[in-house]
This record gives sequence, C-alpha cells and structure tokens, in this order.
Amino acid sequence: MEHVLIIVGIIVVVAGGASALVVPRLRRGRPGTGHASGQPAGTGAGAGAAGTITADDGAARPPDTDVLPPVPAGQAAGVVERPPPSAGRLVRLRGRLARSQTGFGAVLLGLLSGAKLDDETWDQIEEILITADMGVAPARQLVDRLRTEVKVAGTRDLAEVRALLRADLIEQVDPNLDRALRTEPHGDRPAVVLMVGVNGTGKTTTCGRLARVLIGDGQTVLLGAADTFRAAAADQLQTWGGRVGAAVVRADREGADPASVAFEAVSAGIAAGVDTVIVDTAGRLHTKTGLMDELGKIKRVIEKRATVDEVLLVLDATTGQNGLRQARVFAEAVDVTGIVLTKLDGTAKGGIVVAVQRELGVPVKLVGLGEGPDDLAPFEPAAFVDALLGV
Ligand code: GDP
Repeated sequence: MEHVLIIVGIIVVVAGGASALVVPRLRRGRPGTGHASGQPAGTGAGAGAAGTITADDGAARPPDTDVLPPVPAGQAAGVVERPPPSAGRLVRLRGRLARSQTGFGAVLLGLLSGAKLDDETWDQIEEILITADMGVAPARQLVDRLRTEVKVAGTRDLAEVRALLRADLIEQVDPNLDRALRTEPHGDRPAVVLMVGVNGTGKTTTCGRLARVLIGDGQTVLLGAADTFRAAAADQLQTWGGRVGAAVVRADREGADPASVAFEAVSAGIAAGVDTVIVDTAGRLHTKTGLMDELGKIKRVIEKRATVDEVLLVLDATTGQNGLRQARVFAEAVDVTGIVLTKLDGTAKGGIVVAVQRELGVPVKLVGLGEGPDDLAPFEPAAFVDALLGV
C-alpha cells in the first residue's frame, strides 16, 4: 500500500484553544515523476515539485510531548528547489581542493622530478606529507614505496613520477573501502542517518546538504532536529528542509529530550513514507560517558521504530590532531559507519583523509568543499588524489 495516499493528522491543544494541524504525508517516489508530489495543507503551493507534501488529517498526538508536529516542507519557502544529482560532484568541485592545496601536489612533483633526489629530498617529501596531516606511519610507508618504485623505474620524467605518486596516494586513501551511503528504505521503514560530531564542524549544514544530495538523487527525506540545545540549529534545519521539500520535526523548546525528537522524527518519517530520515544531534563534547549516554539513548529509541543505517561523524578538516582526538571519542561512544570531512576547501591538509580512516577504520563517505548548498560531494579516492595533484 506504499503508493496509496494515506491521510494522517494531528490535533494539538494550543494556548487555551484546540486547533487542528496537519501532518504531512510524503509518497515515496522519484521527483519529477509525479510520485513524490503534493502540497502542504492550505498553502495552495503547486503540486508536482520534488518532495513536497500532501495534506491530510489523522491520528491524535500525545498531548504531553515536547516535540512539535512536523513542519511541512515547502510551506514557508513557497518554491521548492530541485537540487542537482550528486554524481561526479567531486570532480566538478576539485578546483576548490586544488586551490586550497597550493603547492601540496606541485611541491611533491617538483621534488620528485627535480635535479637532485637524495636522502634529504626524500625526508622533505615525507615532511610535506606529514604536514598535510597524513600521519607519520602512512607518510613513511608511501615514501618507502615510492622510493623503491622510482629506483626500479629508473626514471625522473615528470609524467612517470606523477603516475607513481598518484597510484601510491590512491592506495593510501584506499579505493577498496565501501563508501556507499546506506539510505535505501527497508520496506515501509525509512533508512535512518544519525549525524554526530562536535558543534561548529558543520553538522547541521551537512544534514541540510545531505538532504539535498538525496533529494537530488531522487529520494524523499525528513529531517529531525535532535540538537535541542540550540534553537538556531532547528531553525537552520527548517530553512534547509523548506528549500528542498523535506519536512522537519523539532522540539518546542531548547533543552527538550533529543531522543524524543529523534523518535518522533522517525515515527513521522514512517507515517509519511519517506525514504530517509536524517537526524541531527547535539555536539557537546562533554564527558565521554555523557556523550555515550546521549547518543546511545537516541540510537536505542530510534531502534524501537527503525534501523539506524548510518552514523556519520562530521569532522572539520582544518582541525588536524584535534579533529582526530574528537573522532576517537565519538568512535568510542557510538558505532560510526562513515566520516564526513568538512571545510576541505579551506585547508592544505588533505592528508587527514588517510589519517582519520586509519584511526577509525571507517571510510570517508562525504566531503565538504565550500559553504554553498551543493558543496557536499560523495568522496571518490581517484578524483580526490587528482585534485591534490592538480591533475
Ligand atoms: P554545527 O555546529 O556542527 O552544526 O555547524 P554548522 O552546520 O552550523 O556549520 C558551522 C559553519 O561551518 C557554518 O558557517 C557553515 O557554513 C560552515 N561550513 C560547513 N561545511 C563547510 C565546508 O565544507 N566548507 C566551508 N568553507 N565551510 C563550511
């Protein structure tokens, strides 16, 4: 019965009077095909746009909850955007990386094809890789290997050393890791993505931009604002959702229980029949136990209704060792399934991809390459290395 429009609704009591609010129902389907179309109740917004919402009525909500009814997407924004598909985005955005890496690839290639390639030069090469946050062990490994290869090849030709360096860098980044995002629904249950990380890393922005990626790729999405410690985060998420036709579930006040918001978001996602629910969480790095309790509770509560398919850890690529420390704490608190490295456009430290994957044994799945709405790209090792080398 997935494709049948089910009418759902909510009755809430508001300040001395009761008023009927509308719960959105999204029909699963591909944008542009008419399957995902509809409109928010009473707005008169045009039907047929991607992921917009169909009005309905329906079940009563428990009156004691501090989670608000879902904000029907597109209602405030009026016009719903259709984001571009995500395929090949890293290639299109590689200029951001190449620009920020001023010198990284160029300096390495200059040294490798230069007049003198002695011990001192190899030390310099290793130093450059370490400075790019690759980590000491991977940098040493890469240099040892490259040194042998250059000797065996007996060449210092720029194109040839570039090919050797490229292959070795790709190997360090590990092309064999499974970087697919698990965002396909399970029958009538949506996929659930939990976004975790320290405040300021770009977590909320990533939730909004991931919604755009998924919607651009033809999915329907609902956002849960379980970062209840900052009202601004919920507002931010609502703005993102409004632009692309993703409903948002948020609390009615700061400090509300994040797990209730997560639970209500997933419940609303099931009722609305969306493909994926993305849940933003608070990024207060208090004690490890506190973090563990909070994220553990959110996950457990979600799992009463659906499976948590992805726990994405958002890290700011400019924070180097500090970012790695954060990664360690989060990985101990929750089972991280993928890393989102943001702000790679603002750093020459692209080596952090290698270091963080080694540290956590988890692949980088997405990278942030700017502040624009579509500057989040699926990570591709070869395209990334090409960008580093300015190919
Ligand atoms: P949160 O506290 O972790 O939720 O962080 P926000 O999502 O509020 O983002 C913090 C800041 O980082 C915002 O100004 C974002 O625009 C910025 N930001 C996020 N991702 C990127 C990125 O990939 N590149 C750049 N340059 N800025 C980013």
